[in-house]
This record gives sequence, C-alpha cells and structure tokens, in this order.
Amino acid sequence: MQWWSDFREDFASNKDWNSIIWNNKEIRVNGSPVFYKNYFDSDFFYVSDLLFNLNNTESFDVIGKKIRKTNFLVWTGLRYSVPNYLRNNIIIATPSTTSPILAIDNQVFDVMEKKSKQYYSFLISKKAQLPSAASKLQKEFNFSLDQLKQLFILPHKVTLEPYVRAFQYKLLNSILYTNSKLYKIGYSQHDLCTFCKSYPEKLNHLLYSCSYSKAFWGDFELFWFSGTQKTINLTQQDVIVGVLSRSCPLLNYFLLVARIYLWDCRRNQIHPTINGFKAKILIKYETENYIGRVNKKMEFLRVKWANFQFS
Ligand SMILES: [Zn+2]
Repeated sequence: MQWWSDFREDFASNKDWNSIIWNNKEIRVNGSPVFYKNYFDSDFFYVSDLLFNLNNTESFDVIGKKIRKTNFLVWTGLRYSVPNYLRNNIIIATPSTTSPILAIDNQVFDVMEKKSKQYYSFLISKKAQLPSAASKLQKEFNFSLDQLKQLFILPHKVTLEPYVRAFQYKLLNSILYTNSKLYKIGYSQHDLCTFCKSYPEKLNHLLYSCSYSKAFWGDFELFWFSGTQKTINLTQQDVIVGVLSRSCPLLNYFLLVARIYLWDCRRNQIHPTINGFKAKILIKYETENYIGRVNKKMEFLRVKWANFQFS
C-alpha cells in the first residue's frame, strides 16, 4: 500500500485523491482522519462539496436539507479540519471505488493492464533526471530537451574509457575548478587564465576563446584533415560540448580527449601544442584498446577508428 501510494504521488498528473474528504491523512478531526457514512451516502466526497465559497451558517443551511442526522457542530468541525491549501481544489467527478486507473502525462494508465516493464520505465525515469547544470547549458547554447539528453549520452557513445566519460560529465556539470572558481572561494590568489594570464579563467575562455586555445584548435583542425581528408570548422559549441548535428563518434572522441589535454596543460602550467595532443591521443588509443580487449568490444573500436590515418 505504501509503495502504491508513493508511486501514485510521484507519477499521477491528476491528484484528485488529495481532495477526497474521507480517510484522508491531511483532513483530521481530533487528530484522526474521519469517515462519516451519512455524508458519504449523500454524495459528499470531495472538499469542494463542503461549499467553501459560503460561510459556515450559509453552507449549513444548504446542506442541512441534503443530509439527515447531522448538526451544525459536526459540519463546521469538518470544514475547519480541511487545510487551507486544499480548500480551493475543485473536483466534479465522482470517485470510483472499482477501477484503479490514474492519469500519467495526461494519458490513462490502467494499473491492471500495465506490465512490470512499464512500471519499471516510470521508476527509472525518476532516477534519470537531467542535472541542475543542464538548464545553464540550455540557455547558453539554446539546446532543445532532446539535444540536452544527447549531450549527456554522447561520452558513453564515443568512448569505452570511464575516466574520459567522467571528465565530460564534470565539464557538463560545471564542476571543473578553473581559477575563476578557485578565486571566488578563496583558493587562488587571482582568477587569471593559466595560459594567457590576461583574462579571467572561465571554462569557455580556457577551452575556447583564449588565444592559446584558439591556436591549438586551429592546429587540431589541420590534424583532423591530415587524418581524415575532411575539413572541419569548429564552433564554440563543438569545442565545449561536442558535435550534435551529425553522428561522428571519432571526432567527438578527439574533441573530448582534446578538452582533457587542455585541462592537463592547465594543471601542468604549460601551453597546449598539437604534438602534445598527438602524444595524448596515442596513449588514449592504447588504453582504449586494452579496455576493448578485456570487455570484448574490439568491433566498436574498429568501426570508430576505421577512417583515421595517423600521419
Ligand atoms: Zn587565456
């Protein structure tokens, strides 16, 4: 019963039961929920039946004719026991005691018909929510909800290596500690960029708009061309979160490793170079091959690397 109650509370789009007067834990007379059979038999189900648009006396005049064997004290006691936030709930339907049906996302969810798989997907959906940083990303790059979801799935699609996936997760959640952030919390003497030492080190600056990073991405585009014979023009969005407009697992993987490389350069206080990145990508290639062999995912790697030639 508890499970059922939680499920209904979490997923139902219409919570009419909150407004049912009887046996409602929110509506207590002398500390206990109540059930008045004579009221129930006279079609009093919902708080809206208690006529909160009228005062006690006026409303009692109206209902006195409908309900037998009641008095003013019982009536006003019941009215007083309804918390304010429930008083304005207007529900017209008659409660059904026979069909356990509820509306989820404004569609009928017949609890008798549904299979455990459908319950499961609801329960999972509650756990798999976008993190709070998602709305910031959405504003910054004007993403649709669908693109946001893709964004968080992308690292899982392009690499087998947990460390690489985790890095992008940190980036998307804005929990990489740039000097700008460290300065704010008193952990750094200044907020200046590690590379150029001229601008505040925000993530966008460090990874994209810094002159050193710009130069690096220019070389990256040439390196990509030499490996694939394909020209690319990276935008800020490509650099920070990846390419969503088309499927290009290897390019997205390279972009991801390049972000990690820039972050390493920051930590080691050196300027990024394309040769440094090439060395990094070779190490990552070895690591991924190892994971691929252990987890029997070599086919994934073969397809991913198929169109790239190291020069
Ligand atoms: Zn800079």
